[in-house]
Amino acid sequence: MIDTHCHLEMSQFDSDREAVIKRAFENGLEALIAIGSDLKGCEGAFNLAEKYSNIYAVIGIHPHDAKDFNDEVLSQIETWTNSKKVVAIGEIGLDYHYDHSPRKVQQEVFAKQLAYAKKCGLPVVVHSREAKEDTLKILEESGVKKGIMHCFSGDMDMAQKTMALGFHISIAGPVTFKKALALKEVARSVPDDYLLIETDAPYLAPEPMRGKRNEPAFVAHTARCIAALRGVTFGDIDRITTINAKRLFGIGNVNTGGEIAYKIRNSLYLNVTNRCTSKCIFCVRFQGDFVKGHNLRLEKEPTEDELTNAIGDPLAYAEVVFCGYGEPLLRLDTVKTVAAWVKEKGGKVRINTNGHGNLIHKKNILPELKGIVDSMSISLDAHDAETYDRLCNPLFDNAFEEVVNFIREAKRYLPDVQATIVTAEGVDVGKCREIADSLGVKLRIRELDIVG
Ligand code: SF4
Ligand SMILES: [Zn+2]
Repeated sequence: MIDTHCHLEMSQFDSDREAVIKRAFENGLEALIAIGSDLKGCEGAFNLAEKYSNIYAVIGIHPHDAKDFNDEVLSQIETWTNSKKVVAIGEIGLDYHYDHSPRKVQQEVFAKQLAYAKKCGLPVVVHSREAKEDTLKILEESGVKKGIMHCFSGDMDMAQKTMALGFHISIAGPVTFKKALALKEVARSVPDDYLLIETDAPYLAPEPMRGKRNEPAFVAHTARCIAALRGVTFGDIDRITTINAKRLFGIGNVNTGGEIAYKIRNSLYLNVTNRCTSKCIFCVRFQGDFVKGHNLRLEKEPTEDELTNAIGDPLAYAEVVFCGYGEPLLRLDTVKTVAAWVKEKGGKVRINTNGHGNLIHKKNILPELKGIVDSMSISLDAHDAETYDRLCNPLFDNAFEEVVNFIREAKRYLPDVQATIVTAEGVDVGKCREIADSLGVKLRIRELDIVG
């Protein structure tokens, strides 16, 4: 995990800074992002980054200190950013709660530092308190398209507008507080690709450390809370936020090859192919390479041996799911061989499919899956053919009708079948439910942009 925001140079850590840093790494943190806020703080963060290989620095002037900003300060910032260990400009922004600097000055200094970040191609770390409209406006005008809204405290509307600008949402300790309902909602629904985690140490210690001095090792409490809110594991949050931080700051190793088998919660997913007979407008394949922190962009399709090797022991997982960045039933023979192998070992098999299997193979393939597949999730995706074609752009003419038939047939041969839809525009959930009911299957509704 990476704590993307800690003020390690602050005096609160003077007596035990080394021990705090050691504890962070002993508790599984991979890197720490030390944040400066005034000139002295920036120097401290910079020195820590120079001293420790896995501490990186973010340099900038906080809105509280905007009144002290001048050309000399900017030229000092420029000198620091020559170092590869300086990975962003921050924390910069607006704070209308304390108003330690006049608002006009805050806005100017924010804009100046954004312009500098843009010039040198660095992301920015933004502080915004009670200044939603102005923050978004200045950010948009700046043309900076990568960064973090740190210690996010806004509402869902602000989160959406922030993400629309290309910015990540970083969740800190307050999400663990009982009364932080709006923040919990944000932490639950921010798409994986935009999620980051931080402590803002020494401030804002999460429950059950609330009230104490915060430190990077405590980020695990926040991660556990976010995992529970999103219905995933601690390991999932660790992987997702780590990969996001690495990609944003350009640090550490990022998996550039596609993964064949990837774990989400306690299930193992198999990435059989990147080909598909649909082009759904909501498909994550068209948005990026990552799902829940796993790179799914295959360089080549895995063989049966590669798949079984990647699975290892099927009993280590609740189920083995044929899924991935494409339609698994395009590789029917491979799916059958590997599914049979999983069953032989006593594991459970599920297939997530777009329901085009019979169209692809021009025959009823479902009898062939009997006995080797326990459950199947089939994308119904719409309540009628017109909506289906608009959303899914299928390769076949009569795809919707055939998907419905496929669900009906699947029910005859497999113990557990469910239809799924995504809450995309124009989908009549009630009518989809009627179709599922008439076919005698459950309907699972997936939220748009939440995958895996
Ligand atoms: S069926 Fe699945 S993999 Fe294929 S385009 Fe649609 S969402 Fe993507
Ligand atoms: Zn801070």
